[in-house]
Amino acid sequence: MALVVQKYGGSSVADIEKIKFVAKKVVDRKRKGDKLVVVVSAMGKTTDNLISLAKKIIPNPPEKELDLLLSTGEIVSVALLCMAIESYGQQAEGFPGYFAGIKTDTLHTKARIQKIEPSKILEQLKKDKIVVVAGFQGLSPEDSITTLGRGGSDLTAIAITGAIKADICEIYTDVKGVYSADPNRVKNAKLIPIISYDELLEMASSGAKVMQSRAVEFAKKYKIPFVVKSTFEDGEGTMVKEIELKEGAVVSSVSIDENQAKISIFRVPDKPGIAGKIFSALGQKGINVDMIVQNVGRDGFADISFTVNINDMEKTKDIVEKIAKEIGAEKVITDPDICKVSIIGIGMMNQPGVAGKMFNCLANSGINIEMISTSEIKISCVIRKKDGEKALIQLHKEFIENK
Ligand code: ADP
Ligand code: ASP
Ligand code: MG
Repeated sequence: MALVVQKYGGSSVADIEKIKFVAKKVVDRKRKGDKLVVVVSAMGKTTDNLISLAKKIIPNPPEKELDLLLSTGEIVSVALLCMAIESYGQQAEGFPGYFAGIKTDTLHTKARIQKIEPSKILEQLKKDKIVVVAGFQGLSPEDSITTLGRGGSDLTAIAITGAIKADICEIYTDVKGVYSADPNRVKNAKLIPIISYDELLEMASSGAKVMQSRAVEFAKKYKIPFVVKSTFEDGEGTMVKEIELKEGAVVSSVSIDENQAKISIFRVPDKPGIAGKIFSALGQKGINVDMIVQNVGRDGFADISFTVNINDMEKTKDIVEKIAKEIGAEKVITDPDICKVSIIGIGMMNQPGVAGKMFNCLANSGINIEMISTSEIKISCVIRKKDGEKALIQLHKEFIENK
């Protein structure tokens, strides 16, 4: 008998037929003797639809009320799944995130989990019930409902797995696991049977939305193993865990992030403290900055460019324009027409020449590189958005198919 946490994403519970299918799967597993906590996302595109409803009232909705609104999506799924489980003759107990003991900070729309008090979950498991928990949400110290950032149900599942010391966390989705590129965009993408936390983390933060990056980060920190598999098709899926560097593919995957925007500040006084001022102001507002490039200063001025999530572009512009005025910079320009392509692999660490091969591949496709960043296991390039698809396919050919 195992203690298992399962998570079903939005596409797995998109309509009543799918909810019934998931309920049947859960009930069959329970009958085999396992104890189950099931985390669910909102049905299909519910979260996107709720966001556009709010934006019809006000373009920049207040974040506390937005969280209250978005949290309803997951609660609908919990209630319906519990009903379906009970209709198959098993007892279920449904919890909104805040009843499940998920305590967060107050950073609405991207709150961080501070602790989990799993006593209510454990109590219901003891009563032999299937516990169904709403993903993506928690409760702040001010007793308001918070959400955990897009894709946050993954984080709920991983965090609960850690808190109740479950044997395994199973993430069920609409593809068979983690692939060498998005299988819905690259037709020769290959399923990866085992992947390290580090590689998946880099993939997730480079646009491969198969797992939320914060969830992978949490799993890595607390060494929580998990598997990503398909809800509707059989297969072993992808096992995610700590793995040793071994001989093998240098690059394991290629990804694209089309939700980035570039912000450039021109003629910034080239003196100590300026970059600190700009980026700590953004940090305080919870804005994640990705790539940063500062050009070589001339006549006491330099230009700084960086990328943020496209949803943070306007907010970033407002903050940066204020600072630009204070420090006497010339102007701030925003550019949403970019994307970021990345190649990832732990094998890259001790292989020279990978960067050159990537840049040549893009150049041979007539694609101009605007920004570059590298880590031990990832190389990313910012290019024009219109070139993204071509870059993804060519890089996959170069590093995965032809290797
Ligand atoms: P869920 O609703 O189950 O949380 P998501 O839509 O968030 O599912 O994530 C699954 C999607 O991630 C897939 O449909 C696929 O298009 C996309 N994806 C992007 N990159 C990858 C990758 N490297 N491997 C697998 N899926 C990927
Ligand atoms: N429903 C939320 C979203 O669409 C959370 C999730 O699906 O994981 O982002
Ligand atoms: Mg998801």
